[in-house]
Amino acid sequence: MGQTISKKIISWYKKHQRSLPWRSYTSSSDRDYKVLLSEFMLQQTKVSTVVPYFNKFYKKFRTIKALSKSRITSVLKLWEGLGYYRRARNLHQTAKLVLQKHNGKLPDSFSDLKNLPGIGDYTASAILSIAKDQSFIGIDGNVKRVISRVFNLKHNKKLLLSIEKKLNSMKVKKGSSELMQGIMELGALLCLPTRPGCTKCPIKSHCISFKKNTFKDRAKKKSYQIKYFNAFFITKNNKILFSFNKKFNFLQGLVNLPLVEVATNKHNATINKVFKKGLISSSSAPLVKYKMSNFVMHIKVISLSNVIFNKTKYFWLGQKDIKKFTISTLAKKLLQVSSNHEK
Ligand code: SF4
Repeated sequence: MGQTISKKIISWYKKHQRSLPWRSYTSSSDRDYKVLLSEFMLQQTKVSTVVPYFNKFYKKFRTIKALSKSRITSVLKLWEGLGYYRRARNLHQTAKLVLQKHNGKLPDSFSDLKNLPGIGDYTASAILSIAKDQSFIGIDGNVKRVISRVFNLKHNKKLLLSIEKKLNSMKVKKGSSELMQGIMELGALLCLPTRPGCTKCPIKSHCISFKKNTFKDRAKKKSYQIKYFNAFFITKNNKILFSFNKKFNFLQGLVNLPLVEVATNKHNATINKVFKKGLISSSSAPLVKYKMSNFVMHIKVISLSNVIFNKTKYFWLGQKDIKKFTISTLAKKLLQVSSNHEK
């Protein structure tokens, strides 16, 4: 049955696939590069968000070699707004290593790919399948949902193992790339978390969940932990005080307003711990809520004046200087809220 399902998925994919910029290529090396770039960008990010970033990035860096020779600051600038900046740094490092160790050619073995920064089991499988047409299938959220529904798999600790077994029975000698992309596309277009479009599905006659009408994994609302922060908005002579906030991994050392985590939602005054001296210049401080992948930040934006600070940690930037740096999306939001609040 696995093989019949695969054939149906491949032929459906050939007719119904979305036209995406990484799906057309001029050569095998162009295909390798586009798949590598798209897989990095698509980690934790929606296709619709990635497309304009992919186009902009590809326009500037057309090959792995061009990317490897670039400065990290230019790469981060192009990535600005896409978030999870570690991906950009890893991609840049990966391009350098591919040039140094693999003569500029993206490796075609699972272990070699996994030795590159930012490439785990899923990305290595996806690259081998999509770019190299090897018989691998990476298991992402879409693949997991489609396969567990088709075979009505139990959602227990062994789910991943059961999915791998079923995928093994579906592997094909020809068309591995289309099969993997087809399963993902089915998950993205028809086999949605809620209200799947089963009537249009090419494999509904094989789908046990459809026949039994049992959709156990309907969208569960993810619960997020809340973390509390104070951000400081400090201006002087048309300049704003910034920091690299290296302490917070999720900011990846990007330029941001000075930020400190606080223990409770009372956002206790922490000025003395952050600055040597400073006066609160506004009695009210707006609250900004910002969602990260695993938690939600509740940030009080406190306006300060007469600040004395450690010059190795903080620095002033004027409007022109700001454009030269990669400003985190969070910083942009904080700046917007602070400016509106000051008006
Ligand atoms: S029949 Fe429905 S549940 Fe089954 S794979 Fe297709 S869309 Fe998903």
